[in-house]
Amino acid sequence: MDLTYTEEEQDFRARLREWLAATLPGLPPRPDPLDWPGRRAYDTGWQRRLYDAGYAGLHWPADAGGRGATPTQHLIFLEETELAGAPYVGANFVGLLHAGPTIAAEGTPRQRARWLPPVLRGDEVWCQGFSEPDAGSDLASLRTRAVRDGDAYVVTGSKIWTSHAEVADWCELLVRTEPVSAAVPKHRGITWLAMPMNAPGVTVRPLRTLTGTAEFAQMYLDEVRVPVANRVGDENDGWRVTMVTLSFERGTAFVGEVVACRRTLRRLAAAARGNGRWDDQELRRTLGRLNAEFTALWRLTQWSVSEAQHTGTAVPGNGGSVFKLRYSHARQELYDAAARVLGAGSLDLSHDWTPERLSSLSYTIAAGTSQIQQDIVAERILGLPRGR
Ligand SMILES: Cc1cc2nc3c(=O)[nH]c(=O)nc-3n(C[C@H](O)[C@H](O)[C@H](O)COP(=O)(O)OP(=O)(O)OC[C@H]3O[C@@H](n4cnc5c(N)ncnc54)[C@H](O)[C@@H]3O)c2cc1C
Repeated sequence: MDLTYTEEEQDFRARLREWLAATLPGLPPRPDPLDWPGRRAYDTGWQRRLYDAGYAGLHWPADAGGRGATPTQHLIFLEETELAGAPYVGANFVGLLHAGPTIAAEGTPRQRARWLPPVLRGDEVWCQGFSEPDAGSDLASLRTRAVRDGDAYVVTGSKIWTSHAEVADWCELLVRTEPVSAAVPKHRGITWLAMPMNAPGVTVRPLRTLTGTAEFAQMYLDEVRVPVANRVGDENDGWRVTMVTLSFERGTAFVGEVVACRRTLRRLAAAARGNGRWDDQELRRTLGRLNAEFTALWRLTQWSVSEAQHTGTAVPGNGGSVFKLRYSHARQELYDAAARVLGAGSLDLSHDWTPERLSSLSYTIAAGTSQIQQDIVAERILGLPRGR
């Protein structure tokens, strides 16, 4: 494991820093969280600027439209953009961080050529249609059906908690192509499809969250025709493809946010010094522990990136569950500490830490709950016997 940066990597960092310093001033603030169409336009606009400057899809392979940069350069990119306060990936989250990487790893050359360049340019936005009203943690029990009819699958069912569905062009969709039976266990009959969100039969009903925003939705699918050519991987082999998607989601998708949390932690300490809360020994202890925690998470990231570079592995392993587990708890503790620093001010929704605190509650649920991550760590990393 080598955690030092080469001259080339340091040079890359310096050029990126310069570009950010020249580009960020004058950038308008991100639109209000109640305005998702506005946010989509803003987020995709920022993505386009990154693309034009040569910073989109840095570590994606060149034949997937990427720049073929090393994972370390990608890590430097995440670190520097967060440190500089560059816009959040936002509406581009699914496309850039897990649907795109899945297609790059599992798609045919034709599929890569069709879907990846528009993601990198910010022309198309993706959402994730995995969860269903009765299939969250137990994802394999999903019931949305897809029946083959000529060159299309006819899809009927419902998906829930679909982030950004309202503004998405495509959905990475899991469907059941083989009913569960004695011969077909539930993990076997699943297929991964790319569904156009404007297809007839797709209805999106936004759901309001604790913070008052409606960035996710329930989707109703009524005999939606999805071309067979949109299937990524083989029919009934979708569970394996899904594991690739989830390993990207848990392994790499939250990395940049660790840097953002470290930045917030510094702001928090400064605020506590300014308003007298620093005298609270218990609070100081919490902030110190969180500093250690976020530093450790960043080191864990550097370590796994260094390993991936060394072994040439494109898909992150189960280690992503360790990261996801610890990160989502540390994020909640960070914003609980923010509430202690703010005191009564923590009820003020216009303070950026207040909605962050409310939304931090979802981090131990989204992308797989903590209990599920604990199971994965216990069984697949530690080799402990199954509890059930
Ligand atoms: C902010 C947010 C955004 C999301 N975005 C998307 C999205 O874009 N697309 C999408 O498809 N999904 C999305 N989800 C859904 C998310 O993946 C699910 O909520 C999650 O997988 C949990 O499923 P569930 O809500 O059905 O809870 P359940 O599975 O019903 O779990 C309820 C409780 O039981 C526990 N539990 C369940 N099974 C076990 C077990 N075997 N062992 C121990 N404990 C267990 C769980 O940990 C949890 O505490 C999002 C969720 C959130 C909160």
